[in-house]
Amino acid sequence: MPYKIAIASGKGGTGKTSVSVSMQHFIRKQFTNQVQLIDCDVEEPNDILFFPNAKKKNSKIITQRVPKIDKNQCNFCKKCADYCEFNAISIIPSIKMAKVNSSLCHSCGACLVACEQSAIKETEQPIGLMNFYHEKNHINLIEGELKIGSAMQTLVIKEVKKQASKQSQIILYDAPPGTSCPVVETISDVDFIILVSEPTPFGLHDLKLMVELLKELQKPYSVIINKAGIGNRDIYTYLKQEQIEILGEIPFDQEYATNYANGSLLKTIPQKISKEFEIITDKLIKRVYA
Ligand code: SF4
Ligand code: SF4
Repeated sequence: MPYKIAIASGKGGTGKTSVSVSMQHFIRKQFTNQVQLIDCDVEEPNDILFFPNAKKKNSKIITQRVPKIDKNQCNFCKKCADYCEFNAISIIPSIKMAKVNSSLCHSCGACLVACEQSAIKETEQPIGLMNFYHEKNHINLIEGELKIGSAMQTLVIKEVKKQASKQSQIILYDAPPGTSCPVVETISDVDFIILVSEPTPFGLHDLKLMVELLKELQKPYSVIINKAGIGNRDIYTYLKQEQIEILGEIPFDQEYATNYANGSLLKTIPQKISKEFEIITDKLIKRVYA
């Protein structure tokens, strides 16, 4: 079974994507080619921007099963609405209204069971895409892409994660920012989580939220401090107090930041940055085979 690692952060802009992409690069360089990166930031996937030589192999549409009510068969008894735990069905007998709100529907199928008139059929509605990218004949990146207007991030993430190759030795999930359901879905089955934070008051605030979440989920984790050298020392005090391991510190570097902005993150990596990633990768690999 592959070892699964999620790279997460309490907020956007801390460098989660650059750490995810770099981790895949350094694991491939130092350890194994059998490492896959899954971009689970489905509202704004951008890992691919850092692989200019990657080619899209194919895309698959992700659909959701949504019930549709045939008003000619419906007697507006409301049983389906009573069964629906997610309040996705509205029935108003007086005006013969029977509607399913697809953004609230969780495709559980309960309403189909409830309806004694066989008035409900399931339809497939597109909610996103999964894109498969190749680089040097090796599938190394799968990206989830939520359809604009869809609220089904969690379902898209679930489907994209299913595509990860069982032959991989290591799978990296680039998690969405925040601490809500899409993040929980991403990290639900991982072996280890890397929290990326930065030494600023905002960084510390969001790190604390993530730590609370991971304590609740009882998941092992450690922290990479990105942009080390800026901000203040409060994050270090907090990590020490909480006895949370610092997996590594990526120093702030103007050249690296510019490379990131230009999408050429992996082309020339400043020596002090690559040295730190090599140390982090070594520590991770020891953990994988502990
Ligand atoms: S359970 Fe069936 S018949 Fe009753 S309101 Fe729902 S769809 Fe209509
Ligand atoms: S499938 Fe489940 S969530 Fe969707 S409308 Fe029916 S009962 Fe509600």
